[in-house]
Amino acid sequence: MAEPIERKLRKEYNISVLGEGGVGKSCLSLMYTRGMFYDDYDPTMEDSYQKQTVIDEDTGMLDILDTAAQGEHESNSYHRTRGKDGFLIVYSVTSKASFEKVGAIHKTILRQTEKKVVPLILVGNKSDLLGEREVSTEDGQAMAETLGCKFTETSAKDRVNVDETFTDLVREIRRMDPNYKP
Ligand code: GDP
Ligand code: MG
Repeated sequence: MAEPIERKLRKEYNISVLGEGGVGKSCLSLMYTRGMFYDDYDPTMEDSYQKQTVIDEDTGMLDILDTAAQGEHESNSYHRTRGKDGFLIVYSVTSKASFEKVGAIHKTILRQTEKKVVPLILVGNKSDLLGEREVSTEDGQAMAETLGCKFTETSAKDRVNVDETFTDLVREIRRMDPNYKP
């Protein structure tokens, strides 16, 4: 018998977008969910955004937590990883400092989720700023290999690889979910 449609509609993907301040977490989340780019989105704002999509002919409701650096104490940051199905770690290709935070963020995810591996994509954002690049594509790729995750470069501003990144993360979540049935 066919699966009832209501059950399919309830497939939810809780995603957390992590990374240093200013790398474009909000712009990526808002471009994906609302198709809009912001020049000066409030950097202290932490909010979640929903979007229903069909990925590989299967419906999914994405619930995206756009994190902000409030309360850097670990005890205040569990909500960013608790109950999350997948993660984007974002840095800016124009900021070596933001790239250097990636390893620590990854460690925090593993520690808080108590997992050895999680659905994750490493994202180098602001690829449109050609003259300001501080992190090469090769360095990004090498970091992703070290972390054992996928890698992409995006421009939230020009909507390059934005939809693909969220879509690929849902695919990673499904791939690593032993109970997933299309
Ligand atoms: P967050 O602190 O990680 O949420 O960063 P925001 O999304 O607020 O972005 C910080 C700044 O970078 C803002 O001025 C954005 O307009 C800008 N920004 C974000 N993504 C891009 C991008 O892909 N290209 C360019 N050129 N600027 C971006
Ligand atoms: Mg933000």
